[in-house]
Amino acid sequence: MEKIRIQNFINGEFSAPVSGAYLDNINPATGEVYSFIPDSDERDVELAVSAARAAFPSWSMMAKEKRSAILIKLSELIQANLEEFAIAESIDNGKPVWLSRTVDIPRAVSNFHFYATGALHVSTETHAMENTALNYTLRTPIGVAGCISPWNLPLYLFTWKIAPALASGNCVVAKPSEVTPMTAYKLAQLCNEAGMPKGVLNIIHGLGPKVGMAIVSHPKVPVISFTGGTKTDETIARTIAPMFKKMSLELGGKNPAIIFADCDFEHAVKTTIKSSFSNQGEICLCGSRVFIERPLYEKFKLALIEEAKKLKVGDPLDEKSKMGAIVSKPHYEKILSYIELAKQEGGKIVFGGKSVNPGGKNANGYFIEPTMIEGLSYDCRTNQEEIFGPVVTLTPFDTEEEVLKYANSTTYGLAATLWTTNLSRAHRMSALIESGIIWVNCWLLRDLRTPFGGMKGSGVGREGGFEALNFFTEEKNVCIKF
Ligand code: NAD
Repeated sequence: MEKIRIQNFINGEFSAPVSGAYLDNINPATGEVYSFIPDSDERDVELAVSAARAAFPSWSMMAKEKRSAILIKLSELIQANLEEFAIAESIDNGKPVWLSRTVDIPRAVSNFHFYATGALHVSTETHAMENTALNYTLRTPIGVAGCISPWNLPLYLFTWKIAPALASGNCVVAKPSEVTPMTAYKLAQLCNEAGMPKGVLNIIHGLGPKVGMAIVSHPKVPVISFTGGTKTDETIARTIAPMFKKMSLELGGKNPAIIFADCDFEHAVKTTIKSSFSNQGEICLCGSRVFIERPLYEKFKLALIEEAKKLKVGDPLDEKSKMGAIVSKPHYEKILSYIELAKQEGGKIVFGGKSVNPGGKNANGYFIEPTMIEGLSYDCRTNQEEIFGPVVTLTPFDTEEEVLKYANSTTYGLAATLWTTNLSRAHRMSALIESGIIWVNCWLLRDLRTPFGGMKGSGVGREGGFEALNFFTEEKNVCIKF
C-alpha cells in the first residue's frame, strides 16, 4: 500500500511544504514508517499567516450563529467518521483503539460542539456609575491565533484550542505534534465540506523548533495557545514575552494521588489503576506519585498489583489490549531510563519494570509493562521529574502535613487526586494542595465548563468554558458619560 504523504492545509487547499522535504511518520506499535510528514518551515507559516489575516475580517464579522453552524457541522463530520478517526489515532499514537473510540475522538466532537454553542451565550459586563456614566465591556476577536499541541491526546487537545479560538472569531494557524500528525490532517480534509471559509483554519505540519517557533515568533500572531512540555515552553516564553503576546500555557505535571485509610477501597484501587496507566500513563493528568496512608499501605499495594496483572499490553488495534505502545522510540527509551534511575536511587520494582515484546507484527514496537516502584524518597529525581509513561511510585505517609509536604514538593502543580470519605479533610486538603485541578474520589471526571490548567511549572492561564472564549478576545472597557 502506498504510504500517505500528509499535506499542509493553507487557505482551504492542501499543499506540499515549500522545502519539498518530508519526515518519516512511524507507527509506534510496529516501529515501521507508515506515512510522511511535511518538514515545513517559516515560509509555510508565512503563507498560512497571510491566508489567516486575509480571512479574518469576514470571519470575525460573521454572525455568530453562522460561525457556530460551521463549527457544529465540523463536529458532526468528525462524528460521522468516528471509527476512521479512532483507528488513525490509534495507529499514529499507539493508544488502544477502544480508548480513541470512546475518549479521544468523542471529545474532539464535543470540543467543537461545546464552543460552537458556548459562543452563542457569551455576554459581557456593565458597570453603571450612578447618574454619571455607564461602562460596558466589549470583547473583540484578536486576529490570528497560534495553536500548538502535543502528541499524547492528539486530536482531543488540538481541537480543545482551535475550537474556542475559531468560535470567538479568530483565524487560526495550528501545528499538531510532528509525532502524531494524522488526525489533524484528517480534520483538515473535513473543513471545506463543513463550509469553513478559506484561510480561517490553517494547519502546518513539521518540527517544533522550525514550524512551532515560526508561529510563536511571528509578529502577526498576537495570541498563542500552547500545550506541551515545561522545558519547551521555557524557550517559547522567552521568545514571546518581549513581544507582549497573549499566552495560554498548559505544561507538564507530576501529579500526586493521595489515598487515605478511610477511602472507598475498591473504588480507589480501580481508579488509581486507571489514573496511573490509562493511555500508557501518557496523560498529563495521570497520577504518577501514589501516596498511601501507612495503615492501608500493604493492602492497597497488593490490590494494585492484582489489578495491574490484568492490564494486557499489546497491539493497539486489538480490542483486548488494555495498554498499547509508547508513542515513539525516544520516549520509550526515556521511560526505560527513568526505571533504571529509580533502581539506582534505591527504588524496588514491585510490579513490571521491563519492556514487552508482543511478537508478530508488533515485535519491533515500543511497549512497556505497567510499572510500580516503592522505597524512594519523596524528593529524589524519580519523584520530582516528569516521566510521562506507565510508571508510578508508591510511598507511605502518616499525617496530612507530611503528605502535603510530599505532594507540594515538585515544581509542578497540574492535577491531584484525593481519596477519603472524610468530607472536612477533603475540603481542607483541596485548599492546600498546590494544583490547578483536584479530583476527590474520582479521576478525569470532566465538565468542559470548568477552569482547566496548572499552577507553578504546569502552566499559565486556564482553558475551558468561557475562560477559553475570553482568552481569545481582547477586552475593552467603553465608558460613556451621561
Ligand atoms: P513538546 O513540548 O515536546 O511538544 C509540544 C508541541 O510543541 C509540539 O507540537 C512540538 O512540535 C512543539 N514544539 C517543540 N519545540 C518547540 C519550539 N521550540 N517552539 C514552538 N513549538 C515547539 O511536548 P510533547 O512531548 O509533545 O508532549 C508531552 C508534554 O506535554 C508533557 O510534558 C505533558 O505533561 C504535556 N502536556 C500537558 C498538558 C496540559 O494540559 N497541561 C496536556 C497534555 C500534555
